[in-house]
Amino acid sequence: MEAIAALCKRRGFIFASSEIYGGFNGFFDYGPLGVELKRNIRDCWWRDMVQRRNDVVGIESSIIMHPKVWQASGHVDGFTDPLVDCKASKQRFRADQLFFAAVVVDGQVRGYVSALEGDDTAGALQAAAEAFKRKHAIQGALAPVEPHEFTEASAEQIPQIPSPATGEPGSLTPPRAFNMMFETQVGALRDGSSVAYLRPETAQGMFVDFKPVVDTGRVKLPFGIAQVGKSFRNEITPRNFIFRSREFEQMEMEYFIHEDADWQAHHREWIQWCWDWLKSIGLPEAQLSLYDHPKEKLSFYSRGTTDIMFRYPFGVQELWGIAARGNYDLSQHEQASGVPQAIFDEATKKKFIPHVIEPAVGTDRIFLAVLCAAYAEEQITDEKGNTDTRTVLRLSPRIAPVKVAILPLLKNKDALTERARALYKSLQRRYAVFYDEAGAIGRRYRRQDEIGTPWCVTIDFDTVEKDGSFTLRERDSMQQHRISETELLDLLDREVY
Ligand code: ATP
Repeated sequence: MEAIAALCKRRGFIFASSEIYGGFNGFFDYGPLGVELKRNIRDCWWRDMVQRRNDVVGIESSIIMHPKVWQASGHVDGFTDPLVDCKASKQRFRADQLFFAAVVVDGQVRGYVSALEGDDTAGALQAAAEAFKRKHAIQGALAPVEPHEFTEASAEQIPQIPSPATGEPGSLTPPRAFNMMFETQVGALRDGSSVAYLRPETAQGMFVDFKPVVDTGRVKLPFGIAQVGKSFRNEITPRNFIFRSREFEQMEMEYFIHEDADWQAHHREWIQWCWDWLKSIGLPEAQLSLYDHPKEKLSFYSRGTTDIMFRYPFGVQELWGIAARGNYDLSQHEQASGVPQAIFDEATKKKFIPHVIEPAVGTDRIFLAVLCAAYAEEQITDEKGNTDTRTVLRLSPRIAPVKVAILPLLKNKDALTERARALYKSLQRRYAVFYDEAGAIGRRYRRQDEIGTPWCVTIDFDTVEKDGSFTLRERDSMQQHRISETELLDLLDREVY
């Protein structure tokens, strides 16, 4: 993860927000290459999800909505995470990320250790238990640790659980509910009536705009409403780089289905669609998995939720949640607003409130997954037998920030640079291309490898003196071959879709 974060900073993918002031925890800026990569991910999603389907339409709702929206949706009362204060260090933790275990030696509990959830929580607790045993010079056989979540009951029953920050027993408060919505004030008057919220999800925009979309008459069940936009959550512990931040982008779609439709079939179809889409932007199947939420952990209105998980360097984590939400949201808004949300079914001559399947994903989480999957450091040997390490981002051409780099072989030969500039200008009309004439050709290739450019095109003497063909150098294989301009255009048309 450190190597990827360092590359992001070095090559202008991601910066800490407000870096000159020391950064701002949980907020990030996308630099010149990052903004291109993120935009490509978003554009691919929009094209595939909205423009290339005839059953999904898009909207863009406002970030600050009527506060009643968040009361009706249940966010004002229930959008909380369990928060634990550490009295000794003044730090705060999410209780469900805090694990503890008893230190059991020769069958006897000798104390407790704690650790924050990570790639190997059990391993961290085991190491802490061994350290505890050494520190207290305890003799005997240490049993394997059993991780437990930090709950109100454990805080009460076992007050000597030590804080992961200080190691001091008894410095953790019991968990309490912490609402993650950011509050703001709208209008010049500052009192309780002016409180509004930055949206914690984009989904409610689709529910609140359901009626106007239906009334404009372009949709028929089953159909979806999609939106891409910023969401805000005051996460207690933003961490793992851009994986969990306080301001992030979501790409969500609400797929409305008939109340009698086979919701499980629709749910399965959308899980498959999301899985295939992740593959289409270059995520390897071997790093993806599915997680079905156990029935007892689902919210009362939810019928089933499956997450597509990705193997990040810090563990297998949720990337994309696909939830079957019944008709809870529309029903809530109907009740709270008094505006009927039911639609009329011609076939049965009945009115009903549609049910919904919701695939919800964070653009930033996809961005990070894509970088983690693409990043490689390889040992390479040149013709002279020298070995070197090559850093390469094996990004799919669909999302790579630069599709082709145009490189004249020599900088001081007008014939080469003029031809290269002409090609650059013509490709630029359709693709993100990059022109580079500085330095040895090998070094220029390597600069492009590091930012994930799939192809380099070199303009050499054969180009200008013979048949007009170029040398095409492929990033992944590092193979080179001659290619004509028409073949280059065909290649781009095929691969950058
Ligand atoms: P988590 O359990 O990781 O907090 P969640 O289940 O609360 O996530 P949802 O409310 O289902 O997440 O949001 C849908 C998607 O939005 C998630 O699958 C994830 O990709 C993205 N997302 C949610 N919270 C964040 C965040 N703080 N930073 C970045 N992306 C996020």
